[in-house]
Amino acid sequence: MRIRRLKLSGFKSFVEPAELRIEPGLTGVVGPNGCGKSNLLEAIRWVMGESSPKSMRGGGMEDVIFAGTAGRPPRAFAEVVLQADTAPREDGTREELEVVRRIERGAGSAYRINGRDVRAKDVALTFADAATGAHSPALVSQGRIAAVIAAKPAERRAMLEEAAGIAGLHVRRKDAEQKLRATESNLARLDDIMAGLD
Ligand code: ATP
Repeated sequence: MRIRRLKLSGFKSFVEPAELRIEPGLTGVVGPNGCGKSNLLEAIRWVMGESSPKSMRGGGMEDVIFAGTAGRPPRAFAEVVLQADTAPREDGTREELEVVRRIERGAGSAYRINGRDVRAKDVALTFADAATGAHSPALVSQGRIAAVIAAKPAERRAMLEEAAGIAGLHVRRKDAEQKLRATESNLARLDDIMAGLD
């Protein structure tokens, strides 16, 4: 997957609509302390479905909405749009992907993929299948290098599995196991009912 563009509105310090074009060759974002460099990386993780307010450096998820300053009122919502190209097919063509996450005060988050309303889980699976996601080791925030060095073997294995593109299969396996358990319990209940009819 190739991330092409990021659009932010009301997200953290980006109160006015802002657009970041991610062209091939972009290697870094520079700026004075506190200008919003980390907020950009957090916007990528957030639109990919990050669900932990703590890892967004907030106490609650609504803390990502512009909180207001002395001269500006707070915003009622935050929205991040991520535009990307999927990995190339065998014939070399790529598909365009647009993922939108929006949060409104008191109303929680809503997601869209290519204009269609979807669940957070669909967004997470879309990115997991593309070997990326909110917890991808490819998104290196401050302090992450030390965390990777100190990672336990199981955590390193998760990173390798993601790089190999099989992280999405684990989510699907968990879902399938849950369905299997529910079906087993339905079958057991059916046996009880049939035994009662004998
Ligand atoms: P450094 O170089 O120090 O790491 P940085 O460029 O990475 O800084 P960020 O940490 O991305 O900067 O941005 C911090 C700024 O974002 C702070 O000025 C903070 O007040 C602002 N900010 C964070 N959340 C919000 C919010 N909800 N509303 C308004 N401003 C916010």
